[in-house]
Amino acid sequence: MDTKTLYKISYGLYVVASKKDKKFNGQIANTVFQTTATPPVIAISINKDNLTHDYLVSSKLLTVSILSQNTPMDFIGHFGFKTGKNFDKFKDIKYKTAKNGIPVLTDHTIGYLEAEIMNSIDAFTHTVFLAKITEAEMFNNEEPLTYSYYHNVIKGKSPKNAPTYLKEEIKEERSAQNMKKYKCSVCGYEYDPAKGDPEHNVKPGTAFEALPEKWVCPVCGAEKSKFQSIN
Ligand code: FE
Repeated sequence: MDTKTLYKISYGLYVVASKKDKKFNGQIANTVFQTTATPPVIAISINKDNLTHDYLVSSKLLTVSILSQNTPMDFIGHFGFKTGKNFDKFKDIKYKTAKNGIPVLTDHTIGYLEAEIMNSIDAFTHTVFLAKITEAEMFNNEEPLTYSYYHNVIKGKSPKNAPTYLKEEIKEERSAQNMKKYKCSVCGYEYDPAKGDPEHNVKPGTAFEALPEKWVCPVCGAEKSKFQSIN
């Protein structure tokens, strides 16, 4: 079996949010799809270990915020690689409360769905929830973020800054050729000295060893000690 074939299945990237009592939580999900038009139903697949799973089972209510292609990496990391078990993910994040009482992101979001869970299917490590759409709204006409764009473009980190930045990068890339790349053991992000870390204003040509001790993974927030060299 060639499991790489699975990489050819395309997905979007969404933040699925829910609540339990008065607490909110949300997480990145790539498996959101419409199953039927009449009634309007979506399916989402959520890992049973995730806090959002508990909240979905408890309230049976959810929102799906559809992320824009321009979503920065640390925003995705905030919802995708951190657990809400220890902190409130919606603190310091802009959101509005949808009609069903669940938060909807307003930054980097092109629109959202509100839904109510009708049914669920045990799917080994995950639960597949079937939810009826009760409301939907578009904020703008930006391109939705896809999973492959996130992996190939955002992680590839071609910086969207000025062309002068690109020139500088090429120059710095030569001097950085002998520096080691490091990989985050939590989320898989690769620190490439040739590229630096634009999220934290680390210039191209900065060796991993030269990063300040308080530097953290731009995707998941893991400490420097969680990184391993890969070449
Ligand atoms: Fe990480």
